[in-house]
Amino acid sequence: MQILPILRVGEGHDVHRTVAGRPLILGNVVVDCDFGLDGHSDADVLLHAVIDALLGATGRGDIGEWFPNTAAEWKDANSGDLLTHVWKSLVADGWQIQNLDCTISAEKPRLGPWKPLIRDRVAGLLGVSAEQVNIKAKSGEAVGPVGRGDAITADAVVLLLGKPKT
Ligand SMILES: [Zn+2]
Repeated sequence: MQILPILRVGEGHDVHRTVAGRPLILGNVVVDCDFGLDGHSDADVLLHAVIDALLGATGRGDIGEWFPNTAAEWKDANSGDLLTHVWKSLVADGWQIQNLDCTISAEKPRLGPWKPLIRDRVAGLLGVSAEQVNIKAKSGEAVGPVGRGDAITADAVVLLLGKPKT
């Protein structure tokens, strides 16, 4: 009998308001910028979208269920630690990443030069090769909350390969 691969797709979306006086952290990289993002944790909008994509693909709810923003233990949390926590639990159940595709939408700063570093960091956190991860950067075309510079958003789509049940 042929054993078919178990493939699962997941998507994640996140938004954070821009705010002065905090570092801008995208994909666990501190991006050189004169503002940051507001949030309970380090407000890493990209990693939050990635976490939701992973949880979505495996039917495990969303980031708010795993890390409530009312919980003191996650105040100013490093989102790299949150991603590692989630991913370890999925790896233990035999999940592997086929590929992860992400989009960051920000009017400022221009993220083009930061994409390779962010890609390498995200791949490193997940223990996959950089070629399995893609980071796209868009502006807000000067319209809406992103275009006005009020917010940065991130979207992620992941394809996972599961362990066939024998
Ligand atoms: Zn978030």
